[in-house]
Amino acid sequence: MVYPIVKFGDPVLEREADNVTEFDTPELHKFLEDMFDSMYAAKGVGLAAPQIGVSRKIAVIDCSNGENPDEKLVLINPQILRQEGKQVGEEGCLSIPKFREQVRRGKKVTVRAQDVKGVEFEITGEDLLARALLHETEHLLGRLYITHLSTLKRDLIKRKIKKLQRAGDWD
Ligand SMILES: [Zn+2]
Repeated sequence: MVYPIVKFGDPVLEREADNVTEFDTPELHKFLEDMFDSMYAAKGVGLAAPQIGVSRKIAVIDCSNGENPDEKLVLINPQILRQEGKQVGEEGCLSIPKFREQVRRGKKVTVRAQDVKGVEFEITGEDLLARALLHETEHLLGRLYITHLSTLKRDLIKRKIKKLQRAGDWD
């Protein structure tokens, strides 16, 4: 099932999601399948559960855009453990469509998370994967990438979004 993507302005995107405490249930397996379907349908490389209106600490990532099943990644209750180096590059968010901005991020990032069975693991990614690990983990804390921009830039984006909302071009 493909869920519609929740857009900026919905409070679910800006609050910390709930921890997942039950693993390996048929509901969780189905939900993860739906998250991948929703992410591919929206042509994203990552999706966090709050972006489909579910406030739970679950995210999926696939930097290969569905080309390589080995790159499918499920993060449950993720935490950022380490960041090394710096990269500056364009970043966007399915919940803030039509905008892309330069964001400075760690170049190499290690996250600890649980898998669908609740087993803890660590993953280290560089470049695009590092950016996706940070972006999605922050979603689950209620933090959007625009919080990394200058106040000036962020306010400009918010003003443009308000205009789009008023014109009925946002939902
Ligand atoms: Zn996002």
